[in-house]
Amino acid sequence: MLYFRKKCNENMNTQFSQLTYDNQRKCLNCDKPIADQEHATRKYCEKYYDQSGKVHDCKTDHHRTIDKPEREVQGTLIRDQKFFTKQIIEMISKKGYEVTTDDLNAYDISLPESLKLEIKSNGIAISHFLQYTITSYPTTNTHKITRHEQQ
Ligand SMILES: [Zn+2]
Repeated sequence: MLYFRKKCNENMNTQFSQLTYDNQRKCLNCDKPIADQEHATRKYCEKYYDQSGKVHDCKTDHHRTIDKPEREVQGTLIRDQKFFTKQIIEMISKKGYEVTTDDLNAYDISLPESLKLEIKSNGIAISHFLQYTITSYPTTNTHKITRHEQQ
C-alpha cells in the first residue's frame, strides 16, 4: 500500500515538473497558476479533494461571489476583465484585429461577460471590455476589435 502511494507521488512530481507557466494564467478564483499544458479555456483550478476529503471547486466558489460583499465582487470583476484583456491582446497578436467567432471561443473571450453589451437594431453587437471594444457582425460571423482611446 505504502509502495503504491509513493509511486503515485513520484508520478505526480514528474508530471508537475514538466509543466510550464509561460502564459501566466491564473485561477480566477484563487490566483493559483494554471499550467500552459492545461486546456486553453481553463479559467479555474481543477476540482479536487484535499486530504480531509473537503472539496475544492474554484469554479463553483467563484460563481458564489454573487453573495459576497460588493467590494469583493468588484475585485473579481476586475480580475475577469483583466483576464479578457490579456486574452484579447494575445488573440490580436496571433489573429489581427478582425477575427471569427471560433477565434473568440479559442481564446475564451465571452462577449456576454463584457462590461456592457449593446445590440443595435441591425443585429450588430458591441461588447465593451476594459481596454477593447469588440463589434460583432452576425451575418458574417466576424468580430472587429478596437482599442479604446487613452483617457
Ligand atoms: Zn483556484
